[in-house]
Amino acid sequence: MSRVVVIGGGIVGVSCALTLQSNGHDVTVVEPGPVGEGASWASCGCIAVGEIVPLSQPGMLMKVPGWLLDAEAPLSLRPASALKLLPWFARFTANARPSKMRTIAADLARLTFVATADFKAQLVDIGHPDLLVERPVIKLFDDDNDLATMRAAFDLARELGCTIDEISGHEAHEIDAAIAPDFKHAALLRDWSFVTEPKLLVETLMRNFASRGGVVVAGAAVEFARDDRTVQSVRLQNGHTLGADEFVIAAGMHSRILSKKLGVALQMEGVIGYSTVLYDSGINLRHTVFYAKGGFGITPYQDALAVAGTAEFADLMAAPNWNRADILVKRAHRVLPGLNIEKTERRMGRRPFTPDTRPIIGRSRRLANVTFATGHGQLGLTLGATTARIVADVIVRKAPDIDIQAFSPDRF
Ligand SMILES: Cc1cc2nc3c(=O)[nH]c(=O)nc-3n(C[C@H](O)[C@H](O)[C@H](O)COP(=O)(O)OP(=O)(O)OC[C@H]3O[C@@H](n4cnc5c(N)ncnc54)[C@H](O)[C@@H]3O)c2cc1C
Repeated sequence: MSRVVVIGGGIVGVSCALTLQSNGHDVTVVEPGPVGEGASWASCGCIAVGEIVPLSQPGMLMKVPGWLLDAEAPLSLRPASALKLLPWFARFTANARPSKMRTIAADLARLTFVATADFKAQLVDIGHPDLLVERPVIKLFDDDNDLATMRAAFDLARELGCTIDEISGHEAHEIDAAIAPDFKHAALLRDWSFVTEPKLLVETLMRNFASRGGVVVAGAAVEFARDDRTVQSVRLQNGHTLGADEFVIAAGMHSRILSKKLGVALQMEGVIGYSTVLYDSGINLRHTVFYAKGGFGITPYQDALAVAGTAEFADLMAAPNWNRADILVKRAHRVLPGLNIEKTERRMGRRPFTPDTRPIIGRSRRLANVTFATGHGQLGLTLGATTARIVADVIVRKAPDIDIQAFSPDRF
């Protein structure tokens, strides 16, 4: 068994740490903290099994001028970041061809179709199956045009095996009385489910890891000591060093900087999303609902509602634009009439997106003892447990039961 250092204790890192620990390794997690406040704390909390159609879609380039001009649109591009993002964006749009999209969707489907089973096994292992709510997610559409924008994505997802039932808006209201009755169309995403609170999930996983003897070191990894192909130790910002046999890079968006220090150029940008947690909302919502035109979802947490979404292309150092979070909350009234928004908490997260929307899982041929587990984009929460299972195989040099060639860190 090996001594493993997992760098990053977000949903992906802590999932890897737990699985490696269960497999008998001696595991240390490095996390600057606070635990649970990586990108996932701003997430919609969905185990998004059918979210397999890549973010890059045909016709995107034509839309860029609109994204630059309208800072309030569900998709936007920070003008100050546009130049810095250009190389990533060029690769991103190159993946928008229909044939590419299909291949990417099929690659993602291989991962997401086993995600619920992996996630449930993880929750059972830590004694918390209650953290998952197994109810379908509902998408809402104002009119025919609105539904038409999803047609190609629904068709592709169905073709690859997803179960999506189209119903009327009124039927959605009958399923969940909190939803406004006047949407024209809705879709039941049958394969999806959601967690009761993403921050609570990560905290609970970390607590379990620590209670089983796992070591959590508070600090940020900054540098590595290595010879040609083998890393000996990682140095933290506070000057401490941690040696190990194996290292896992799972620091979300920050994995890009760390990987560069190891000579591996990962192409990732942080696509910003926002969430506002509403306490005392006065609404009893039972399902996660997505309002397609608004670009956001609303998820019932244990004791609150979270209004989360939008995609803002901005560079890693860009400060939050909280106005975007506030806009989502205003639009949420369309979905949930009577929503009370007096007691709120705003959150921001950077989804670590690769230009092809595929995560980065596996070893680089340049390094003998480093495994990458990052770049999960909009699917990190969904794929944490599945990624962990794959990483556990990679570490012991066993071929995973899922072909991971398409997720290689060397593909860029
Ligand atoms: C608005 C929004 C909605 C979303 N909805 C969903 C959804 O419904 N379903 C879904 O599956 N996904 C969703 N996502 C995406 C999901 O949150 C991310 O894919 C996921 O959080 C990525 O996990 P991660 O562990 O790789 O990164 P993170 O969650 O960002 O965690 C990375 C961790 O690394 C730590 N770190 C950073 N630098 C260092 C360093 N130098 N050394 C050590 N540690 C470091 C950070 O502190 C952090 O804790 C959403 C995201 C957003 C923003």
